[in-house]
Amino acid sequence: MDDLPKKITCIIPAGGSGIRMGLPFPKQLAPYKGRPLILHIIELFRDQVDEIIVAVPLEHEAGFHSILGKRCRIVLGGASRFDSVRNGFFAISKPGNEDLVIIHDAARPFFNPATLKDALKIASSNGALIYATPATDTIKQTENGLHVSATLDRNHIFMAQTPQIFRLDVLENSYRKFEGEAKTPTDEAEMVEACGFPVALFRSTPENRKLTHQEDLKLLQSQTIRIGHGFDVHRFDAMRPLILCGVQIPEGPGLLGHSDADVAIHALMDAILGACSLGDIGQHFPDTDPNLKGVSSLILLEQVLLEMKKKNGSLVNLDLTILAQAPKLAPFRDRMRQSLAQHLNLDMDRINLKATTTEGLGYIGKKRGMAAHCVVLVEFS
Ligand code: MG
Repeated sequence: MDDLPKKITCIIPAGGSGIRMGLPFPKQLAPYKGRPLILHIIELFRDQVDEIIVAVPLEHEAGFHSILGKRCRIVLGGASRFDSVRNGFFAISKPGNEDLVIIHDAARPFFNPATLKDALKIASSNGALIYATPATDTIKQTENGLHVSATLDRNHIFMAQTPQIFRLDVLENSYRKFEGEAKTPTDEAEMVEACGFPVALFRSTPENRKLTHQEDLKLLQSQTIRIGHGFDVHRFDAMRPLILCGVQIPEGPGLLGHSDADVAIHALMDAILGACSLGDIGQHFPDTDPNLKGVSSLILLEQVLLEMKKKNGSLVNLDLTILAQAPKLAPFRDRMRQSLAQHLNLDMDRINLKATTTEGLGYIGKKRGMAAHCVVLVEFS
């Protein structure tokens, strides 16, 4: 970094087993946005540091090696988080006193690295810095775990997070001074404080939370949202009924197609399949299949919803646009939305339906047929 010429090393203690989260593997390997969590943690720092060291549990060393490859150096973790960071610290290559060491929890993936440059500058001059957020709940003290012994003034309470950043000489001196102490500090800042070095507070936000308990894993899952788009066209056929969103529109003309030619549902199905990476409706329901002749598109939609469910997907919302020069669809808009809400089991508020003409232009404007666009969001757990 231009104004920070010293070497910067990031140590990530990833020694936990995952037992507290009820996982058969370390939580750092839990899937997040399609990749193991640890890779996201490394991405947070990769562009801003010279070296990344990850301390891993012995029993999962091979797994971490295959996932991390050459992105960083791997050392063995210790019996505690504190020991894991210590192992990482003494593995720093060519250490210099003015170097900076960032320590970041492997289970804190929501850290925003935009503030890191400022924090590094302060850490460089002050010697030590921690990200922390002001306490918002009232903090009670207890001696026996059963009764409150005091209410602390929360104006003086900050909740410590990571990153914690230290000048290398400060951390090294602290390790040396702390050698042989019976108590294991809960973080490196506690040790540095105990050794008499000042630790600066750097204001963070509650979003930078640590994933600790089993229910925290839902935070990872709820973030997997994918978009899908669908488009369909059918030509008019005056001999057939007009069915849109499963609703028969009395004013016709109808649409030509192998099924009931519900152009709106077809665009919707393609959007859902798109968000699920499942191809298109032509692959799932070929128009050469005699069993599908005249079939209600709502039946096909049911099958598409089942396919989405198999992938643990659920619809968040949809925005459907029907392009038609005729008939006027506005009077049927709410009936169509209601039909979709019922068949998708989705709140009306999450279903938007628009109808537009094309101002007399093109095949829609010449009243030769009808088209529909649909965009959906699907959330995966
Ligand atoms: Mg179609």
